[in-house]
This record gives sequence, structure tokens and C-alpha cells, in this order.
Amino acid sequence: MQVLFGGTFDPVHNGHVVMAESLARAFPGATVHVIPNRQPPHRVSQVSAEHRLSMLSMAMEGISQITVNAIELDRDGPSYTVDTLGALRERFGAEESLVLCLGADAVQVVDQWHQPEMLVELGHLCILNRANQFIEIPRILDAYQLTENLSDFSNKACGLLARLATPNVPVSSTEVRGLIAKQEPALPVPPKIADYICRHHLYQDTE
Ligand code: ATP
Repeated sequence: MQVLFGGTFDPVHNGHVVMAESLARAFPGATVHVIPNRQPPHRVSQVSAEHRLSMLSMAMEGISQITVNAIELDRDGPSYTVDTLGALRERFGAEESLVLCLGADAVQVVDQWHQPEMLVELGHLCILNRANQFIEIPRILDAYQLTENLSDFSNKACGLLARLATPNVPVSSTEVRGLIAKQEPALPVPPKIADYICRHHLYQDTE
């Protein structure tokens, strides 16, 4: 089973690390792909994709089952999830169980995505319910078959939807960037990421 957890990771923070660990625990034996995306044109970071990738790799290093997958950085053009799932489907074959994990924020805007109706044929969907937030599932995802049992994901390649309750670590990358701009000494990121940010003078200008 291949579990996909994407984001901008600008920069990676403690919430992301806890989430990756939770996914590894929730899907024993699976590989969890942590996938940094290309920046959308309307949201250009001060920090290069190389730095985001280096920090993400350092933060995830040594966590079992986790691999940082640069598939979206290696591909030109926008990071459409449907293309990423399609490429992983090709790589792992028709029988492999693929699980796309989405936070509530992403699920709520999924109908604005590129070809969202194709997702169901490419993989399963796991909705991450942080802090027990319980969101309505948009109609565009109606084709998924709801299950309460995550272990069902291993019986099929695609088409199931489940919710996963995950821990609440109240931090965002936006907050981390704000703290750096204010020169706060303590950041909610792993210590080696704080060192990296400091060494490379990242996120020093206020946005
Ligand atoms: P930004 O503040 O720049 O929007 P972010 O902190 O929300 O960033 P993203 O890179 O957009 O981080 O998130 C990547 C993934 O991590 C998303 O699926 C998101 O739901 C999840 N995530 C973000 N923050 C947390 C957190 N504190 N705990 C668990 N998961 C998180």
C-alpha cells in the first residue's frame, strides 16, 4: 500500500511530522510518501523548492515507512493531484492500493481542483480529521464508497473513502514564517530545521 501526503511544507513544522508519524501508524506496512508541491503561481515563496525539499527530507529522516517523494517538483507545470496519482498508479501497477490523504481544508475546495471526478478511479481517499473536526463530504466525491475500516483499503486498489482522526498540533507554516520574521527564538519545528533556517537566513523578510 502506498499512502500519499502532500503539501507545500514552507517550511515543514512539528504538525507535519506528527501527521506523517500518525499515517505510518494508521497504515502499518505501507509506504507513506510525503510529497512537496510546486508553488502555485499566486503564492510565490521567498524560499526555493530545493530548500523546502532539504528541510522536509531532514525532518522526515529516520521515521520508519516514510519517504519524501519529489515527483511534483520534478515535473514541469502545475502540481495537479490527479496527475501525481496517475503517475504513481503507472509506477506501482493496477493492483496496488493507493491512498490519497487530504486535510479538511483541501477537501472543502476539492471541487475546484483539476479533474476531481477522476480521483476515485486512481486511489482511495483518507480524510484527515484533525482535532475531531468533522466536515461534510462534497458531492463531487459521491462516487467513493464510504468505509469505517481503514484496513479495507488493502483489499482494493481504489474507490474507498474513510476518515482518520489525527492529533491536533496547532501550528501552521504561516505561523512559523511569522515567528521568524519577528525573530522569535523558539520555533515549533524540529531543532535541525530551526538550525537550517538560521544558517541559510530563510524567511527573514516579512511577507
Ligand atoms: P500554510 O500555513 O503555509 O498554509 P500549512 O501549515 O497548512 O501551511 P501545508 O504545507 O499547506 O502546511 O500542509 C501540508 C499538509 O499538512 C496538509 O495536508 C495539511 O492539512 C497538513 N497540516 C498542516 N498543518 C498541520 C498540523 N498542524 N497538524 C497536522 N497536519 C497539518
